[in-house]
Amino acid sequence: MSITEELAAVSVHHWIDGTPRTAAANGHLTVTSPLGTAEASRVALGGAADVDLAVRAADRAQGPWRALSATERGRILHRLAALVRANAAELGDLERRETGHPEHKIPGEIAATAAYFEYYGGLANALQGETIDLGGGYHSYTVREPYGVIGVITPWNVPLGQSARSAAPALAAGNTVVIKPSEYTSATTMELARLATEAGLPDGVLNVVTGTGADVGAALVEHPLVRKVSFTGSVRAGREIGRAAADRILPLTLELGGKSANIVFPDADLDRACEGALRAFSSNSGQACTAGTRLLVHRGIHDAFVARLAAATAQLRLGSDLGPMTTAVQRDKVLEYFAIAEAEGAVAVHGGVPVTDPELAGGHYVVPTIYTGVDNSMRIAREEIFGPVLAVIPFGDEEEAVRIANDSDYGLAAAVWTRDVSRALRLAGRLDSGQVYVNVWMGPTIETPFGGFKMSGYGREKGLEALAHYTHTKSVTVAL
Ligand code: NAD
Repeated sequence: MSITEELAAVSVHHWIDGTPRTAAANGHLTVTSPLGTAEASRVALGGAADVDLAVRAADRAQGPWRALSATERGRILHRLAALVRANAAELGDLERRETGHPEHKIPGEIAATAAYFEYYGGLANALQGETIDLGGGYHSYTVREPYGVIGVITPWNVPLGQSARSAAPALAAGNTVVIKPSEYTSATTMELARLATEAGLPDGVLNVVTGTGADVGAALVEHPLVRKVSFTGSVRAGREIGRAAADRILPLTLELGGKSANIVFPDADLDRACEGALRAFSSNSGQACTAGTRLLVHRGIHDAFVARLAAATAQLRLGSDLGPMTTAVQRDKVLEYFAIAEAEGAVAVHGGVPVTDPELAGGHYVVPTIYTGVDNSMRIAREEIFGPVLAVIPFGDEEEAVRIANDSDYGLAAAVWTRDVSRALRLAGRLDSGQVYVNVWMGPTIETPFGGFKMSGYGREKGLEALAHYTHTKSVTVAL
């Protein structure tokens, strides 16, 4: 029986100490398919007791895992990557049934998941310390040590990728991990843990406990044997986790929301800028923390550029190009913002209305929407909507573009489209943003550090830097 059939029939959702655990302290959650009304999965709603079992297993496993040679840890992560690739069809099916992502997007998501384990598997033995010349008969050096047990809490927009993004560097550095995936999209993370065991990851090194944030997420943050938490999700939950973490001085990586600015100058390659602007706000139907949802366009090209972008947006087909919102709550939230935009006086040049196609009824689809007449003080320009909704804001010069882009509570990503290299680099230096893209909206990203400024969070995932965030520095001083 494939895991897909198994999920429809039974709930085997926690993965603790190398084995599935069916106990569900708080019953099950039935997740409905975002594509229609079918049952997608039944997710075990765990509780503090399940978290305790998983964390204790991770704690027991951490010493032996850390004691393995770094090269051997890397080899196991490479085997896991190979298994992810070999099981791409099955993982993809699971991911699609819970997220509703379009079929053509799924292979890339699974490949990116494997790539995290390949990249960090290769870096497992690259962690290095320094020697410090103190003179006076002393010798001092530093080592980078794993924290111990890492709690990882993930959202529903890119479930498997987000789990891999944190687990791969944490494991490579010698930590053990307990993941709490979103209750709406737990299936692939559970399957990842099963594959990890098959790849030879020792029992207890990677565990998954499914359930709600209030029951499982909070218990993970509060567990005294958890030494660090990496959280990806909303500002609301990030704040709650920050408060709980403060009580026990728990280090955090927080990857939160965004309201990213995409700035187009008249001297840009406007074909590419238009493609990039479309991708920026509509990729994953806008369910991306980095989504470029504020388009800043120079007044001189504003009307022509918006007309072109609206025409390109009209070509997008719901169902094939764009998937639905993953949850009904998220679909309703986007529809609420249509009403807010109208009340604020914004003008919809595309969309802004509910889906009418009867073939899409039942799915959580929303029409990709572009608003003009937007002022940066409006709610649709300030609040993260997490759907395919673009606010277009005109600007007159570089100074004004930077001011508007930086006038945001968030600071996750920004892009600049121009042929003027000096201007591009000037802006890259001035934008309050963890990521700046020039003449592209996101590129290959595993190798580059990723994270936020301001309310978009702190700490970094991806790149070599993530390894530093999953280790702490110890200095050793010897009197010779
Ligand atoms: P969410 O904050 O509601 O939930 C995220 C996860 O946290 C879920 O697993 C949830 O169960 C858990 N959780 C909720 N409350 C908790 C609490 N008090 N304690 C512990 N755990 C808790 O977010 P979501 O709706 O799943 O995801 C959308 C949000 O995620 C958006 O704001 C988006 O920008 C953000 N996001 C950020 C990044 C990034 O890398 N910066 C990437 C993807 C998504």
